[in-house]
Amino acid sequence: MNVTSRGVSERRGEAHAGTMVTRRKLGGPASCAVGLECNRCGASFDLQTAAVRCPNCAATLQVAYDLDAARRSFRSAPLADRPLTMRRYAELLPPARTLTVGEDTGFTPLIPARRLGRKLGLRRLFIKDDTVNRPSLSYKDRGVGIAVQHALDTGHERIACVSTGNVGHALAAFAAAAGLRAYVFYPRDLEVAKAHVCRALGATTLRVDGEYDELNAACRELAARRGLPFVNITLRPFYAEGAKTLTLEVVEQLGWRAPAHILVPVAGATLINKVRKALDDLRGTGLIDSEATRIHGAQAAGSAPVANAVKAGSSTILPTEPRTYARSIAIGAPGDGDEAIATITGSGGWAETADDDEIAAAVELLAATEGIFAEPAGGATVAVLRKLIDQGRIAPDDVTVAAITGNGLKTIDHTANRDHAALRCDVDALDRELAPTLGAVAGARGGRP
Ligand SMILES: [Zn+2]
Repeated sequence: MNVTSRGVSERRGEAHAGTMVTRRKLGGPASCAVGLECNRCGASFDLQTAAVRCPNCAATLQVAYDLDAARRSFRSAPLADRPLTMRRYAELLPPARTLTVGEDTGFTPLIPARRLGRKLGLRRLFIKDDTVNRPSLSYKDRGVGIAVQHALDTGHERIACVSTGNVGHALAAFAAAAGLRAYVFYPRDLEVAKAHVCRALGATTLRVDGEYDELNAACRELAARRGLPFVNITLRPFYAEGAKTLTLEVVEQLGWRAPAHILVPVAGATLINKVRKALDDLRGTGLIDSEATRIHGAQAAGSAPVANAVKAGSSTILPTEPRTYARSIAIGAPGDGDEAIATITGSGGWAETADDDEIAAAVELLAATEGIFAEPAGGATVAVLRKLIDQGRIAPDDVTVAAITGNGLKTIDHTANRDHAALRCDVDALDRELAPTLGAVAGARGGRP
């Protein structure tokens, strides 16, 4: 298989090449978006409609594209000539009138995870590493970048979000760079580092005494009362499209082949549903054939409405009250949860859970085998991957992609308080610490008393 794992280094090289390469490809391929459409009843709406859910059936609206036009455009404007960012798939993204946001976002590395694969018994395992995404080290940069661009294009000067952490961090960073005033609402249990970074980036950052789901409901009303755009509420159809780019990149990085399995963490269920949408769009444009990909979801055991429903054979979620230290996936009533069940079961995939101990152990396993330090959501993904293999749902030679969606440096509170006693600053004291793995040095003074 021809795997291209291009990423950060090539992007940097491009910026240094001769004339300054800007990300502003205003003369490049145009969006082939034609409007919004209802997932369930197929009703169509103008791209500028204020509605987020279908007025007929309340299902989520999503951006619809002229896939024949996209097919022609991809043929006439080769991808090789485009910047290595999520914007390279302009045909399959909402329009950007003045591209000022997200010009360096996406096209994160797809890493052949050989050491982790050996531990788990997989020969063709790949990590889609969004822990190094720009500007805020999580996959949320994708959706928030698209939503902020839309807000700019429609004349907004203020923008808000409700966040379990990563959306707020992404919004604060994009808003700072675009000169927008940002408001981040987050539930009481957010990690300290995430709240701190939102404030440092200049966002008005409001901690609310409640869980994510009740805060989300309150912000929905606030958005209507104030006419304030929320990236993950009123701009949701645009925000969600950004999530699609993770899968578009994976397929290109695998040499224009869809993997046999893709596994993603599930919280609000945006990402998992956009895995399916991305694959559908790619088939519609002829960029891949009709290979089937099984789409799997990973949840924390303490916040698993989608996995519980899949295991019970139910087509609707039963909201739960989240209890997990994996705060970024602690959503008990995901808005697109029912759609996620259909995505998973319709693809022949599965959903599994990992408890907090399993998540923490898997964070360490990923770090120790691949050098990737993930937030707990990444631990959930790796722990669930192991279970899917053990259950025989993924075979040893299946091409499998696991999405690691957020950087562990943002959730360091969970490990920062572990006991790390300070050593005496003395060469013998330091050397004694090496003895268990390196053996004793002949002639060294001291030794253990
Ligand atoms: Zn509808």
